[in-house]
Amino acid sequence: MQIKFHGSRGSIPAPGIDTIKYGGNTSCVEFVSDEGQRIIIDAGTGIRKINRTQFNDKILLFFSHSHWDHLQGLPFFNQIFNPDARIEILLNARYYDGIKSDLLKQMSGKSFPIQFDSLPCDIKFIKIEEKYEIDSNLYVEVFENAHPGGSSAIKIVNKNKIFTFSTDNEISIMKERKTYDNFVKFCSNSTILAHDAQYLDAEMKNKKGWGHSSIQDVCDLLIESQIQTGFFTHHDPERTDDQIDDFENIIAEKISRSGRLTTLSGAREEDVIEI
Ligand SMILES: [Zn+2]
Ligand SMILES: [Zn+2]
Repeated sequence: MQIKFHGSRGSIPAPGIDTIKYGGNTSCVEFVSDEGQRIIIDAGTGIRKINRTQFNDKILLFFSHSHWDHLQGLPFFNQIFNPDARIEILLNARYYDGIKSDLLKQMSGKSFPIQFDSLPCDIKFIKIEEKYEIDSNLYVEVFENAHPGGSSAIKIVNKNKIFTFSTDNEISIMKERKTYDNFVKFCSNSTILAHDAQYLDAEMKNKKGWGHSSIQDVCDLLIESQIQTGFFTHHDPERTDDQIDDFENIIAEKISRSGRLTTLSGAREEDVIEI
């Protein structure tokens, strides 16, 4: 399987000389299975960079939720203007109506000149009730994140390889709601986990309830889920490359104390991971 990060910034695009290394585009990750099926997660501004890709098959597009930084790139995804494109939008059944309506509203003429209903591509909306089988080698599962307005984590299982992506999720709230243990089970055995770490523990007292995790909580999640390879994403728009690099010290300390062989790195735009 292949994973490519096209946008790892949270909240709002943050282009500039201080954000070149990790990138300024908002949430978008592209997954390609061993058999070549592509699943795009979120349509933040990073999705525009997929426009150079050759699509030979249907395009699966999953939305974690419909905050702006996760859907504002959709009107600039060139495949929606391709009459030959087949796009299936996968949504957690729980948020199906809300996200669908937000996608339509975004292209209703007020915020963008082209209307969703007039798009020439073939777009279908699909509800995921916990699990959705794409083909005999590939299925996805969703899990409820802790985030204002709701958000979903997605686990993509491609035979014996697993990619789990959870952004816009506040682990400390999951602990209060007692959903954390099940979340650890959901993430366990992932080949790769990418998780929101917008903040540091020291910042959480002013950001509690905003729906994002601290890097320290993500370290613990990786350790408790026994995952070897993790990426943290949804970088705060105010965070410079140097400041994100400094997360390494916290990660090294937390992970060495656990005695586990785990790596946790900042997701960088254009990073490609092949497993
Ligand atoms: Zn976000
Ligand atoms: Zn959000």
